[in-house]
Amino acid sequence: MSDNSKPTDLDPDWGTATLGVRAGEMRSEFGEHSAAIHATSSFVFDSAEAAARRFSGEEPGLIYSRFTNPTVQGFERKLAAMEGGDAAVATASGMSAILSLLLATLRSGDHIVAAKGLFGSTTGLLNNIIGRFGVTVSYVAPADTDAWRAAARPNTRLFLAESPTNPLCEISDIPALADIARDVGVLLAIDNCFCTPSLQKPLSLGAHLVLHSATKFLDGQGRAVGGAVVGDAKIVGEDVFSVLRTAGPCMSPFNAWIFLKGLETLDVRMQAHCQRAERIAAWLAEQPAVARVYYSGLPDHPQHALASRQQSAHGAIVAFDLKGGQPAAFKLINATRLFSITANLGDTRSTITHPPTTTHYRIGPELRAEAGINDGLVRLSIGLEDADDLIADLTRGL
Ligand SMILES: *Cc1c(COP(=O)(O)O)cnc(C)c1O
Repeated sequence: MSDNSKPTDLDPDWGTATLGVRAGEMRSEFGEHSAAIHATSSFVFDSAEAAARRFSGEEPGLIYSRFTNPTVQGFERKLAAMEGGDAAVATASGMSAILSLLLATLRSGDHIVAAKGLFGSTTGLLNNIIGRFGVTVSYVAPADTDAWRAAARPNTRLFLAESPTNPLCEISDIPALADIARDVGVLLAIDNCFCTPSLQKPLSLGAHLVLHSATKFLDGQGRAVGGAVVGDAKIVGEDVFSVLRTAGPCMSPFNAWIFLKGLETLDVRMQAHCQRAERIAAWLAEQPAVARVYYSGLPDHPQHALASRQQSAHGAIVAFDLKGGQPAAFKLINATRLFSITANLGDTRSTITHPPTTTHYRIGPELRAEAGINDGLVRLSIGLEDADDLIADLTRGL
């Protein structure tokens, strides 16, 4: 059993901002106010007997930084508290968080129901890597709740969804999927990368597990790659932890320090991202060159009501179709000076991407058409610059 569980000295009434600043504090004998970086691969024991007790699990404590490091535990405890989970396991990347969860919960012969339009590497992991070990996957439309129930088989073990999806902002009904998951006896895992616990808490909506790419908003400044799985003491605290301990996809103490400092400001950052994104989405919806805006904060979004129920705001990712297709998209992207032309998201710096020729290029024209990725699609990740400056930057190319 790991020592990365939620600390017991938390006030259950604290809000997400307070938890982000205060939860999971790990203070050393020096009494440092801001978290220390414990850059050490291993830990010493007072005696041979003490070492034996640590290794046998008789005595909790630190052993080796592949699976026990105070800075990494500080990040795990803070994130677990913010998501309302009993335990979190930090990993080297968002992808290794997903891999660790799959390795911890699946065996050969099992089946997964996954949302169409999951993050590209997640689909690749399921199809090309996990698929080689005898696990099969069915893909369903994220917002079509009945399709999830219909796709479940006796050997289904896991439902895997992202809500909202990237780039088209489709919303899965998390409480409804959680009910179906309980009816058919499977685990529901939600990749909460785009909302973060500041906007959406999947565990309180009924999901069993939360996945994170800490690389995005948890860091929020584009500095490091990392991930995490959050959930209960058995599946995460024991099963996922045991994969981490043995297979070793661990987070470095330095990256954990970056992420735990990121969590301290997550709540105010997310509010600022969302305010700017809402303004820019509403502005885009009025531009004659824009055919359609994909943002659940707009009242005409098909799942606006659902998103407003399960999220406290609508996030920082805004996508839109330009009437002029790819030439218009390229013209807009090339005309911007403030937006960075990069596929990354969740940064203080706003970014602009043309998904059909970058992130969704390799799936080919047929799957793109099926997924609703049009040639004139542009995706923005709204950062923390002034909204007026971002609007002026887009105006240049529209
Ligand atoms: C980026 C991302 C991942 C993968 O995370 P890495 O940290 O890049 O490995 C997984 N899911 C979503 C939704 C992402 O955006």
